[in-house]
Amino acid sequence: MDLVEKVKSISGEDVLSCYQCGLCSGSCPVRFAMDLSPTQVIRLVQVGNIEKILESNTFWICSTCFACHARCPREINITRIMEALRQIRLRRDQDKISVNKIPKEELKILPPIALVSNFRKTTA
Ligand code: SF4
Ligand code: SF4
Repeated sequence: MDLVEKVKSISGEDVLSCYQCGLCSGSCPVRFAMDLSPTQVIRLVQVGNIEKILESNTFWICSTCFACHARCPREINITRIMEALRQIRLRRDQDKISVNKIPKEELKILPPIALVSNFRKTTA
């Protein structure tokens, strides 16, 4: 799953319905301290540039106040998107196993359920 799909999957929000009106940024009480505005974050998710967001402080600064969600004409829950970004960032580099690194001979004999269980528990 790519990062854009991951944001959508974790947040449950349809970012493509955002038409960049800017109300979320105008409503945000901590916008002044953010590298990227909430509107910019949504745009970057739309175009698939998650890396730029993950380099910013925006999702850490978000205070989860829901003011942006309350005013969004598209009823996008930006707060949930910020939370999804925090989760993705926190899980980064936490993968303990990689399927590409498991020798083919071992893959043949490992029980599938053990593999699935490990991927669920140890990868982001
Ligand atoms: S308020 Fe909603 S529609 Fe407007 S820019 Fe923010 S997310 Fe997009
Ligand atoms: S939930 Fe976060 S992004 Fe939205 S207005 Fe509040 S602080 Fe800003």
